[in-house]
Amino acid sequence: MFVDIAKIKIKAGNGGNGAVAFHREKYVASGGPDGGDGGRGGNIVFRVNTNLSTLADFRYKKSYKAKNGEDGRGSHCNGKKGEDLYIDVPYGTLIREVESGTLMADMSSNEEFIAAHGGKGGWGNVHFATPTRQTPRFAKNGMPGEDWEVQLELKLLADVGLLGFPNVGKSTLISVVSQAKPNIGNYHFTTITPVLGVVSMGEGSSFVMADIPGLIEGAADGVGLGHDFLRHVERCRMLVHIVDVAGSEGRDPIADFEAINAELVKFNPEMAKLPQIVAGNKSDLATPEQIDRFRSYVEDLGLPYFSICAPIAEGTQELINAVAAKLATLPPIKRYEAEEIPLEFYEKKKNTGFTVRREDDVFIVEAEWLIPILAKTDMDDYESLQYLQRVIVSSGIEEELLRQGITEGDTVSIYDLEFEFVP
Ligand code: GDP
Ligand code: MG
Repeated sequence: MFVDIAKIKIKAGNGGNGAVAFHREKYVASGGPDGGDGGRGGNIVFRVNTNLSTLADFRYKKSYKAKNGEDGRGSHCNGKKGEDLYIDVPYGTLIREVESGTLMADMSSNEEFIAAHGGKGGWGNVHFATPTRQTPRFAKNGMPGEDWEVQLELKLLADVGLLGFPNVGKSTLISVVSQAKPNIGNYHFTTITPVLGVVSMGEGSSFVMADIPGLIEGAADGVGLGHDFLRHVERCRMLVHIVDVAGSEGRDPIADFEAINAELVKFNPEMAKLPQIVAGNKSDLATPEQIDRFRSYVEDLGLPYFSICAPIAEGTQELINAVAAKLATLPPIKRYEAEEIPLEFYEKKKNTGFTVRREDDVFIVEAEWLIPILAKTDMDDYESLQYLQRVIVSSGIEEELLRQGITEGDTVSIYDLEFEFVP
């Protein structure tokens, strides 16, 4: 089965905890603090693997976890960083955060994408030593790694999509114009995974053609394969619509052509507007009258028409030349713009709570939902700080600090952020 959509859970590693330790040596009394920091947790990193053409690997494995960072130890030993976890996806995979629907990445380049960041390691107690606090008996915990539920969706990157009923000769065409070797068979639905073929035009120019599984009537209404497969041609710059001009399976080529275009409109009206070139295949089986009738029908619609016999590559070069000429006038393949998960989305998680821990005059605040907000706060920007301040108040953190007796000049420590409390 062809899998082109999958939901998985990803969890980056937690940061290791900082250590509370003191220097110890024979004959040396009361050494200073030397607890090391925790290591950073491993990231979850997506990368393109061009050998993959489906998301089938995600059908059974639904949960991915990167390693945690190790805890810090005495003698200034920092904990080891957790290993990153790489997830391979096919070229053209979209990664979407499920709850907010945010498009996190379009994997259509060789750039790696860190979808979940490992938590930073907590500070060891060395960091908390001050002239007035020489023996800090506390350290910080590592930050939790980000976790998300993401939906992966494969949207192939092809310049041209082949459209047509099963058995009209799509696979045959791609096999004669490119190096692709799809299965060709005289039965319906032979193509179950899309096949991409690079069509070389000489002098280093080429384009990519996608052979997608055949459409069937009613497909856009969820009958049979249609809906899922149309998704693959969504990014295409144009379509080559192949029709069995001989009606060799007892069907009418005009009816076929109209049925498929109707499916296309239903699925995505934008796609129906893509330029089409029509190829009447199986011309060897057709009478000249059949070909003429279909040709004039297509040309009356204002579309270019080519008669071909795919297995012997008759007429295919002319078709390919016309496709290349058309492509030269069209915008490049669509890349989807990644979005940032909005801050309000994290703020909504305020009700998942927070903890405030007092250590001498340091008030350590922990709240997972606050981490991304902090990361996005620009400490030099007034409005940004105002936003953070509002969140700290509205979440009840300030109230809790006051309840635990914070006074002016005490330190508030929220992960990376440390500031003096001003009531
Ligand atoms: P697809 O389902 O659209 O991919 O169609 P295939 O390429 O698998 O072809 C279906 C059947 O039609 C195969 O048996 C092919 O050999 C045959 N076929 C394809 N093109 C032609 C053609 O131009 N003439 C004839 N006579 N048979 C063809
Ligand atoms: Mg096929």
